[in-house]
Amino acid sequence: MQIKIENLNKVYRNGNYAIKNLNLEIPNGMFGLLGPNGAGKSTLMRILVTLMKPSGGKVLVNDLDLAKNRREIRAMLGYLPQDFSFFSKLKTYEFLDYTARLAGMKNGASRKTAVDQMLEEVGLFEARDRNANKLSGGMKRRLGIAQALINNPKIIIVDEPTTGLDPEERIRFRNLLSNISTRDVIIILSTHIVGDISSTCNNMALLNKGELAFTGSPEQLIKEAKGNVWLISATETEYMEINEKYPVISTIPTEGGWEVQVVAPEINGYYGKQIEPNLEHAYVHFMENKLNQWSNS
Ligand code: ADP
Repeated sequence: MQIKIENLNKVYRNGNYAIKNLNLEIPNGMFGLLGPNGAGKSTLMRILVTLMKPSGGKVLVNDLDLAKNRREIRAMLGYLPQDFSFFSKLKTYEFLDYTARLAGMKNGASRKTAVDQMLEEVGLFEARDRNANKLSGGMKRRLGIAQALINNPKIIIVDEPTTGLDPEERIRFRNLLSNISTRDVIIILSTHIVGDISSTCNNMALLNKGELAFTGSPEQLIKEAKGNVWLISATETEYMEINEKYPVISTIPTEGGWEVQVVAPEINGYYGKQIEPNLEHAYVHFMENKLNQWSNS
């Protein structure tokens, strides 16, 4: 599978320029779409799931043009929106059976097999008779992914994947997606949470104000931040100054002061050492540099 986005633009009726000349290739596997609020992620998702038309440009899915082959492309899509919710009174298996019917699975026996298998895969088989409404947040999210996957989609789009999940459910949900990503599919995770991307995605893109700021592997982005992440031992007064001067990533109180992680090319006058960047550092480093470049241009 491959998605190719060429010179994509979206201007809303009120003049908001949500996507600006976007060129992006999305290969097989798990793809992270990262960016702050307002970056244009949801707009891009809506275009990809054919809910909205772009103002200009093209999206190709394996050489099928999204503008001309909406029906074929729709049949390849599974979508888990951020605010996924479902009908009250249905039991878990009834809900999934209903979505399977909507997806065009007409044969009762094979639909039952598919629904049972899917419930098994997302770890909800035991909960199949429970009212879908009463499932925990993590289980609802897994039922959401089950409905997105029931038709064997080739492109799976998940908006803000871990919103509202506790840490254990988060890991479980990520592992579930990672297992699926070994098939011939594209899974796009759209998020503003760096941690959703670091552990699972082979490739990613960073959007800012509708523009592509970076695309490549998380490791490539991390490499760019090397030499720019510091752990400073600071007194209370120094900590206040540092907070004003640099983007602070984390702060830990120590005896008589603070250990402060900052992203900066140098830390003139403070006592500290360089540390290995992670994706969160890299994201901050990249955005700081880009934002400076943009504001200077
Ligand atoms: P993200 O999902 O990254 O937070 P969005 O795609 O929601 O970003 O928004 C990108 C830009 O488009 C923002 O400036 C937002 O205010 C604007 N926008 C989003 N939806 C609409 C809409 N329906 N009408 C007008 N402007 C919109």
